Amino acid sequence: MQATDTEAIVLSAMDYGESDRIVTLFCRDCGKVRVIARHGKTSRKRFSGALEVFAHLQVRLVLKDGLSSLRGTDIITIFPRIRRDLGKIAHAGYACEVVDRLLPDAMANPRLYRLFLSYLDHLDSSPATSDDLRFFQINLLNILGYRPSLNACCSCGAPVDGDAFFSGVGELLCAACRTGGKAIGSETLALLGQALLTGRFGVITFPPSCLAEAGQLLDAAVTVHLNRPLHSLDFLNSILDVH
Ligand SMILES: [Zn+2]
Repeated sequence: MQATDTEAIVLSAMDYGESDRIVTLFCRDCGKVRVIARHGKTSRKRFSGALEVFAHLQVRLVLKDGLSSLRGTDIITIFPRIRRDLGKIAHAGYACEVVDRLLPDAMANPRLYRLFLSYLDHLDSSPATSDDLRFFQINLLNILGYRPSLNACCSCGAPVDGDAFFSGVGELLCAACRTGGKAIGSETLALLGQALLTGRFGVITFPPSCLAEAGQLLDAAVTVHLNRPLHSLDFLNSILDVH
């Protein structure tokens, strides 16, 4: 069978049986793929510790329906500065899990791949911040077609014009349609809109009240598309509480 060479980021990895490892990769050219690495658990030489979450690799795959085969890897980077910082690990781990859970199998998504890789690059070179996490989430939702409207009521479609309220399911409601949710400030919505236009991590900074509102909206907007909670969220929230 023909082998495919592509860049990839490891989304999840687990030992399998005596000596193998099953790895979920987000490949730049072929999307999310589950692969088995024969002797991936035992053969340090063959895979040289590359089969760990958020490692950035060049891989050789034989693609199959179901489980594909990993034939070779070269490490581009394991993001060593993320791995030395608990807060960065929590953010990168969240990013891997949310991409794994929201991305359909075997569909290339080069925009999302670029966003995800930019986030890991930025985490590796800068402190982990909630501003960047919210920037990642709004752009992730936007690329996947799951972004809430930032200027219209999700029920009646009327412009919210600075009078927007949480719907409870990651959308906005106008004053006439609100169902008891708190107000969300126009500054928060404007900053989220800017985050979609900027395209670069580290540029948008949210004041604390906006950060809390953005977090509430975006966490709900992500959760609505999941059939079970994210494992990484408790760890991430415990880190956010400390900082
Ligand atoms: Zn409405």
